[in-house]
Amino acid sequence: MFVAARTSQTNMVKKTKIVATLGLVSDTKETLRAMIENGMNVARLNFSHGDHEWHGKAIKTIRELSAEMNVPIGILGDLQGPRIRTTVTEPVEMKTGETIILSDVFYGESVTSKLAQAKSFLLDTPKIVDDIEIGHEILIEDGLMKLVVKERETGILVCEVIDGGTVKNRKGVNIPDSQLKISAVTPKDERDLKFLMENEVDFIGLSFVGSGEDVKYLRGKMKEFLGREDNLPHIIVKVERKEAIKNLDSIIDQTDAVMVARGDLGIEIEGTRVTLLQKEIVRKSLHKMKQVIVATQMLDSMIINPRPTRAEIADVTNAVIDHTDAVMLSGESAGGKYPVESVRTMRDIIQHTEASPFDDVTGLLKLDGKDDFKNLVKGAFDLAKNSDCRAIILATASGFTGRMMSHFRSEKPLFVATNSQKACNQLTLAWGVQPFYGDEKDLSVLLDKMVAYRKQTGQLADGDKVIVVFGSAKDNKEKMQMVGVKTI
Ligand code: PEP
Repeated sequence: MFVAARTSQTNMVKKTKIVATLGLVSDTKETLRAMIENGMNVARLNFSHGDHEWHGKAIKTIRELSAEMNVPIGILGDLQGPRIRTTVTEPVEMKTGETIILSDVFYGESVTSKLAQAKSFLLDTPKIVDDIEIGHEILIEDGLMKLVVKERETGILVCEVIDGGTVKNRKGVNIPDSQLKISAVTPKDERDLKFLMENEVDFIGLSFVGSGEDVKYLRGKMKEFLGREDNLPHIIVKVERKEAIKNLDSIIDQTDAVMVARGDLGIEIEGTRVTLLQKEIVRKSLHKMKQVIVATQMLDSMIINPRPTRAEIADVTNAVIDHTDAVMLSGESAGGKYPVESVRTMRDIIQHTEASPFDDVTGLLKLDGKDDFKNLVKGAFDLAKNSDCRAIILATASGFTGRMMSHFRSEKPLFVATNSQKACNQLTLAWGVQPFYGDEKDLSVLLDKMVAYRKQTGQLADGDKVIVVFGSAKDNKEKMQMVGVKTI
């Protein structure tokens, strides 16, 4: 038997967040304002496209709108990472069953006579052919074309065409079986990272991550560029390689947040396994208390159509029911005909789902350790769940306690106050958190200010009972907590 819907649709604030990729169709102030009004929480800048001038303008516009509209918006700078691409002067037509010779831009000139023996092309990553073994697959242009390596000599790979097609210049290449010795942060990424640090963005996307070491390396670079140890942008690893699936635990342990980047992931592993892996990654991230985003093709047909397919609606619905922190738009909001409608559609699906009895958030996160901090936050969550309180109100210096509380997926509203602008922006990604920034040094004064604001918005009223949580900083780490019950 169904129980009544949990929350009325009227004035409901959604708990699952929306990350929207910006592009040429969504870079005007009017469009961005409409996207924020319709539920965008985090703006993603994809550094595979656009120059620093364009990205700089987008960052400035978002920051202006966030201040004007009094809505915290996070900014994610997504590094291109070591994407491997084809290098051809003329398109190369490959027929299934044919032999193709591959080299790369490091060896290319020294093996020209060998390349002339059959149809051939180069990969743009120096010495990449050294890492590819006989029997390994090479996938080109979203996996549309497939080669398998039959023989290898220094600087060349002799391949059989399994799925033919026409190889054009600068098309993406995936080599899922090989352990590639490529750095997760390329020279272009370093330049983009410096730019992003100068512009104080809130999140950095690490593309094609392969191991926990890659995450440590990026964090080291960020500390080096910023000349400080803390208050760093949060790292969002993009799980999109077979190698990342092998090293999932250590990657999630090292990172701040995870993106299930289903585009490349669906090329590197069978597409039919992606949904199950998505569920596993969401669950693992939640249990390891890290934020998680489900990304790519969620409302893909809205790139050209004003309405999504039923299957796309089901995809977003299911991600919400899995309790991902956020769902993401890519081409829909960056290059499609309906950027604002895509955000609004995503918001509507989230709100319908969160109000439904099928979206059961009770008892999601089990704690088995003796960590006093986590148990105290869990205690506050249980208190809120079992009492007739209206909301949880939480003060946090670094955002840490707010994020911890978010992982319990509380049905009760979670109002979080912080005196760090960066922490406030980073909390935009956390499920259920409604962040509030104020520059008051004293967190209890700030908490009172937030309560007054929430009374103005009608989300709290005089006489409401609330659960109060304080996260206080010690040795630069937020640890010591206090929990109480209060009538406001
Ligand atoms: C993906 O591959 O799903 C993804 C999000 O990465 P990008 O958009 O950078 O290709």
